[in-house]
Amino acid sequence: MGADAKELFTVPSCDSCGKPAVVEQAYSGRILCGKHLAKSVRKKISKELRAQLPLNKDRHTTVLVAVSGGKDSAVLLDAIVDLIGKRRDVTVVAGTVDEGIEGYRPPSIDCAASLCERLGVEHHVVTYPELSFVEIDEVVQRLPQIIKKDNDAPRMACSYCGVFRRQGINYLAEKVGADVIALGHNLDDMAQTVLMNMANADIERTLRLAPHTATPVDGLSPRIVPLRWVPEQEVHLYALHRELPMHHEECPNARGALRWRHREMVALMEADVPGTRHGLVRMADQIKGLRDQIVKLGGNESRPAPPTPCPRCGSPSSGSQCKACDMRDLLGVDDD
Ligand code: SF4
Ligand SMILES: [Zn+2]
Ligand SMILES: [Zn+2]
Repeated sequence: MGADAKELFTVPSCDSCGKPAVVEQAYSGRILCGKHLAKSVRKKISKELRAQLPLNKDRHTTVLVAVSGGKDSAVLLDAIVDLIGKRRDVTVVAGTVDEGIEGYRPPSIDCAASLCERLGVEHHVVTYPELSFVEIDEVVQRLPQIIKKDNDAPRMACSYCGVFRRQGINYLAEKVGADVIALGHNLDDMAQTVLMNMANADIERTLRLAPHTATPVDGLSPRIVPLRWVPEQEVHLYALHRELPMHHEECPNARGALRWRHREMVALMEADVPGTRHGLVRMADQIKGLRDQIVKLGGNESRPAPPTPCPRCGSPSSGSQCKACDMRDLLGVDDD
């Protein structure tokens, strides 16, 4: 075997222990084996959880962890149970929103349920029809007609799904009396969202981006995102390392979504300039920091007007009714 061929088959070794590595972090320059990667992922999650969720022994805190059956929320729930699950002042509950996507959601709900069972966590599920929403499979079918009737109607199933899911999670939070909602967004998800908001000149959404514990968003249960500095690939490796039950399939509607294109863009930018994802998320933090400074200086007017309850369903809304009810109208859903 020539020198070149030998090099091709050489597995890099962990910079901590010299064992074969599973990941080379271009953004940090580190090379890690499974064990040391797991240690670093756990440390990042623990640090973020402490920063985003200040606990107080004199006040009980119920955390609703949104679980989908996928790797991100599996790692999130496993880590939260491990880090704070035994505390007497904390209750951890898991919740899943069933969007009604045949072939994709049922097996992932099974994964979520078996993870909860393994971790001894109570698990609640709510379906779109239970919330008077239309199942996403049906939305997909009806979309061509909706767009024909109203040219301004959202064109992607994900637009409806995102709005409905947010309300589904709020419903579950209210049902279990949650003080805070934990979401499994990883570094790639967060960077994609920041880029999408910027491309859309959507400063309001940037300001409302989780985590919310430092600056709560009026009318919403605060969301925390403890995985936000962990890249997607590392979440996946960590989930494998912990042997967590997880569903690998992708939603059949994901590829057509705008987020998919941002996903590819962020991945390309990161490969070209390592650290881009961190930069995008830090950028959003800095914008939020600037807003907080202005508020501190007495410029309260700079805050967006607090949402008012939707007259139809009571959800926080900034218009005459909430977005979900606008979508109910587009889909022809009656109130009763
Ligand atoms: S990819 Fe779109 S349709 Fe599928 S679950 Fe996500 S938001 Fe819903
Ligand atoms: Zn190692
Ligand atoms: Zn409403």
